[in-house]
Amino acid sequence: MIRFDAVKAEGVRAIKKAVAETLAAKYKDIFPADKGAPVLIKPNLNSNMNALTGNTTDLRLLAAVIEYLKKAGHTDIAIGEGTNSGFYRSGINVISRLRVDALARHYGIRALDLNYSEKAEVEFENGVKASVARECLDAALLINMPKMKTHFEVGMSVCLKNLMGCLVGQENKKKTHLSLASNILNINKAVRPHLHIVDGLFAMEGLGPTRGTPIKTGMILFGNDPFAIDMMVARIASFGWRKVRTLAEAERRGLITPERERFVDDYPLDVSFTFAPPKAGPIAYFIHNPKRQKYFLAVRNTRLFDAICSTDIVGKLLFATGLRQDVFIADEMEVDTLTANPAKCGDCPQKCAAFCPTGLDIPRTLAGPPPAGCVECMYCYCICPKGAISFGGKMGFLAEQMRQYGDLIRRIA
Ligand code: SF4
Ligand code: SF4
Repeated sequence: MIRFDAVKAEGVRAIKKAVAETLAAKYKDIFPADKGAPVLIKPNLNSNMNALTGNTTDLRLLAAVIEYLKKAGHTDIAIGEGTNSGFYRSGINVISRLRVDALARHYGIRALDLNYSEKAEVEFENGVKASVARECLDAALLINMPKMKTHFEVGMSVCLKNLMGCLVGQENKKKTHLSLASNILNINKAVRPHLHIVDGLFAMEGLGPTRGTPIKTGMILFGNDPFAIDMMVARIASFGWRKVRTLAEAERRGLITPERERFVDDYPLDVSFTFAPPKAGPIAYFIHNPKRQKYFLAVRNTRLFDAICSTDIVGKLLFATGLRQDVFIADEMEVDTLTANPAKCGDCPQKCAAFCPTGLDIPRTLAGPPPAGCVECMYCYCICPKGAISFGGKMGFLAEQMRQYGDLIRRIA
């Protein structure tokens, strides 16, 4: 039976309440009775761009799910993701940059980089075999927590696409990039999450999965059927679901059953948005056309090309043409102090506190070194509409995010 729920929530307290109430009322039976059984949460940590840019799973939502699990008595909880190839190749720890490891420490659970996991072989298109992380197959409860976002190669990246992050390391991701829509379906045959929780709080429209624009829907979606949820997201975004290549391929394979179509068509959604489509620039569009992509990938997957692309100048060129979505900045962020100036706050209704994943009493406690319980996610700093929080330390990679998205985040937060 297809189960699906859509809720709206604004602010960390409302998010935690919505998650706890929905899971307790509708999905309790999915949780294993054995409280010591392994639970794996699989977010989308595609790049080092934080959740407010529309790119990665919101720490507030992760915190809400972890708190629910801990309250229910589960003792073996991990967050795991095999982050994007480019960051992996560049030796950049995205899990740490997004402060997911700090959040995991805060709750006493584990954060795993699935790029280094024990491997289990899975069959993909054209006889290709590639490895997924063993933890994704062995979890007694696998919770898929994708971001709601556009994707310039397959249309949208939600539940189905998010499982590509279960592949171990760049080598396995490379092997499966060709025939991407088909291979997304193939990995979904092997890795079967028990529950999906979609982060649409700050979704992404336009040139996703990394260079798009954040769009605030405030929505959290719950369900057990990744096809139905992805079709529902297409409906929310006002995309025809057949425009999503993964879903079109699923239809070709007979996976879009009449039950799924009926469920999605009849579900009483009271919201809809019009997401800008993921239009790539002309060069990226030409190269990533499925008919030509294999020639590009044959060149891209050579060591020589890898070495050339690692140079700063070629990296910038690829970014400018849209062939590369990410900027791989080596500089880390170092937070020495976070200090609020209450004189600037005026009538602001403690907006920063609504964004704090660990629920700290800010801005009151921001007065020097980050307070106890602060995971240094910088959400408070990013959204403060009055520039009342000052940062002491080294911005590192965050400076580029603020340059690209700072004004927009403050406007829509
Ligand atoms: S968001 Fe900024 S202006 Fe508002 S209360 Fe927090 S620090 Fe003050
Ligand atoms: S105080 Fe600010 S930086 Fe620290 S966890 Fe809360 S929102 Fe993140």
